[in-house]
Amino acid sequence: MNEEFVWQCSCGNIAHKDIMPEDCPACFSVGEFAKIPEDQLAEKTDEEILRRKKLKQAGTKAVSRKIVKSNSKQAGRRKK
Ligand SMILES: [Zn+2]
Repeated sequence: MNEEFVWQCSCGNIAHKDIMPEDCPACFSVGEFAKIPEDQLAEKTDEEILRRKKLKQAGTKAVSRKIVKSNSKQAGRRKK
């Protein structure tokens, strides 16, 4: 199995490859990728995961807020 490295373009795009990516699919620069040192790797990938999670949450938040609203309306109508 080939060892995979993490490369980051000057635009911030991250690629996981065993060799340096030639061009960046995000900004179309050539030769802008630099290998991320292993001690920075955890941090960088955490950031990436967090960013993706936030994007996902932003999408589901609107939906769950709607549900909460309708639930509280029902609760208010209920008489004990
Ligand atoms: Zn780029």
